[in-house]
Amino acid sequence: MEKVKLTSLTEPALAEYITGLGQPAFRAKQLFKWLHARMETDFSKMSDLPKALQEKLTQETVIETLSIARKQVSKDGTVKYLFRLPDGNCIESVVMRYHYGNTICVSTEVGCAMGCRFCASTQGGLVRRLFAGEIAAEVYTAQQDIGERISNIVLMGIGEPLDNYENVLDFLQIISSPNGLNISMRSISLSTCGLVPKIDRLAQEKLGLTLSVSLHAPNDRLRSSMMPVNDVYPVAQLIKACRQYQKTTGRRISFEYAMVKGVNDTPECARQLAHLLQGMGAHINLIPINPVDGSAYSATDAANVERFKQQLIGLGMNATVRRRLGTDISAACGQLRQEAKGDSEG
Ligand code: SAH
Repeated sequence: MEKVKLTSLTEPALAEYITGLGQPAFRAKQLFKWLHARMETDFSKMSDLPKALQEKLTQETVIETLSIARKQVSKDGTVKYLFRLPDGNCIESVVMRYHYGNTICVSTEVGCAMGCRFCASTQGGLVRRLFAGEIAAEVYTAQQDIGERISNIVLMGIGEPLDNYENVLDFLQIISSPNGLNISMRSISLSTCGLVPKIDRLAQEKLGLTLSVSLHAPNDRLRSSMMPVNDVYPVAQLIKACRQYQKTTGRRISFEYAMVKGVNDTPECARQLAHLLQGMGAHINLIPINPVDGSAYSATDAANVERFKQQLIGLGMNATVRRRLGTDISAACGQLRQEAKGDSEG
């Protein structure tokens, strides 16, 4: 019989499982705290649970854990992890140190099916989706390793979070629970390449997290050349969904715009972008693209990024240039996993 993935269960699901074992409901709360607040992985140390229950859980269930396959620490304090899952697959997480606290960037899938032409994470396609407990384990393992509280989460690592919708939603419930790490939804950002039906669905959940949309181009011709997902959900449809999302949730969307030299960084692109997002009060995050192996794209130089930003501001937009942390340790997601694959294959 397959073991129950204990740390992937939300509080209601855990309560159902525990009461199904004939235990009182308060045991589920005790257990949830052990798993998600104290991050205990050894049942025999869960001292307020009866021995018989500890043994039952040992037999029937599994706690998702990760081992640190590689770790790199940047001069600016950024820590990048290559985590190994029990099935041998690897994922990446990055911890960034900001003045307001520690932020972790987590992966939601092993690989990615979206095929963005500039992205290292998608080069080997999608291997599998992560369970909620595996995403939570990225946070727990990193927090225990750095020995400091992680207060913010961005779902911007390997994978497309909205392509793993149920597991990601379960993860968000678990991580924001007052009985767990209690990371507020206000401190969580989810980034998507633009899966329109899932954006619509997410709006209905009214979670209070920040939605980031990887736009990267202001028209279909350019966006389709960079992101195959645009052939399925073109720019007009995507922006319509974004406007509706803002209306439903009352939360402003943040747009990511990775700048590629000579491709999407022209004054005409800035004009189109401003026009597209007019009246949304949206935040535009400009990021010089991080060139990955096998990609023809190179980054817009700093002066041109600044000029593009000033043009957007002049057109009434709210635009900033993303500070780049950890560039000395290939902290752009997907890069370490690709490197590690190269090691084992070569
Ligand atoms: N699948 C999600 C989240 C993961 S990628 C998404 O597409 O949003 C997180 C962000 O990094 C996205 O905005 C993505 O487009 C961007 N990104 C990927 N590769 C990049 C690269 N080489 N340089 C700059 N940004 C990149």
